[in-house]
Amino acid sequence: MAEKRDYYEVLGVGKDASADEIKHAYKKLAIKYHPDKNPGDKEAEEKFKEAAEAYDVLSNPEKRKQYDQFGFNAPGGGFGGGGFGGQGFSFEDIFANFGDIFGGGFGGFGGGGRRGGGRKAGPPRGNDLQIKVALSYKEIFEGCTKKVRLKRYTPCTECNGKGGSDIKTCDTCHGTGRVRRSTGGFFQMITESACPNCNGMGEVIAKPCPHCRGEGRVQETEEISIKIPAGVSEGQYLNLRGEGNCGPRGGACGDLLAVIAEKPDDFFTREGDDLHCEVKVPIHKLVLGGTQRIPTLDGGEVQIKIAAGTQAGSILRLREQGLYPLNKRGDRGSLYVNIGVEIPKDLSREEKELYQKLAELRHDKETAQEESFLEKMKNLFK
Ligand SMILES: [Zn+2]
Ligand SMILES: [Zn+2]
Repeated sequence: MAEKRDYYEVLGVGKDASADEIKHAYKKLAIKYHPDKNPGDKEAEEKFKEAAEAYDVLSNPEKRKQYDQFGFNAPGGGFGGGGFGGQGFSFEDIFANFGDIFGGGFGGFGGGGRRGGGRKAGPPRGNDLQIKVALSYKEIFEGCTKKVRLKRYTPCTECNGKGGSDIKTCDTCHGTGRVRRSTGGFFQMITESACPNCNGMGEVIAKPCPHCRGEGRVQETEEISIKIPAGVSEGQYLNLRGEGNCGPRGGACGDLLAVIAEKPDDFFTREGDDLHCEVKVPIHKLVLGGTQRIPTLDGGEVQIKIAAGTQAGSILRLREQGLYPLNKRGDRGSLYVNIGVEIPKDLSREEKELYQKLAELRHDKETAQEESFLEKMKNLFK
């Protein structure tokens, strides 16, 4: 396959194109390269699919955001066999979306893409599902495999997803799943709708499976494992192709969108790849200097050096102690330690005496400091 072209280039629109512009551009291409207009033209077919894939991504605000940020390497691309586009674009998918764009039947080309080449109706694709995956910073730091439970349609095992036995092509629509009707007087209008006899399936089941009532699928609660790369952040999602609901009677499966949520942490807060935390240091350490141990994300600890005379509110930067960027492509961020002061409240008699002694020793200096400060402020207001 040739090198993938940029989606904006495919549709011939700018990066800042509005939803309307994107829709309009796609509509033009879809009409130009529609297979009914270009029978047997492989190149037109490729162009038609390429445009549909570009539209699929750019018309979805979430997908578009991800594409703008990561290009073809969106976080979903690494696993689940998906990411953007890839293989999975069939004509069925494309035509299934036409209703939204062209408003009902795809006028002018034999109405409705499915009918186009005299193709038989296939079972519809299952819906996409969405789940939220809440992750701790530790899980985001290392990347992880999350087990999640979800309720989804899976093929019925009793009938192997067929929906029953004695399956015959529908007499009403002859297997196309669509019926056409002429209406109107002066202007002849041809409208198309799903076949009422087979509900658009193109087939009728004489002996429906009792387990799934002829649907060929049942709803089950399942546990699946989702591999999350390191460095993901709130609101990003992984597109797990084919992990959504399966379609009825052997229809293809929809996708599962796993949306990342960050669990709040008691100690760290996140800012991109950097982390921030606050550590209370005993007052004597700030005065005299010393070392202080602080926990790190990987469950370990680091020792930081407190210089003599460190002020409360100062911030120490520890390089390479933050999070990895997405997929560990690059260096770790920093950990910023906000220094607070721990004022003891549980003084023993001896300690209290020492503080009092200290207060007496510092009295003159402190009084002088206080006076010069007050003097300065008073002058400021004069
Ligand atoms: Zn029918
Ligand atoms: Zn069944």
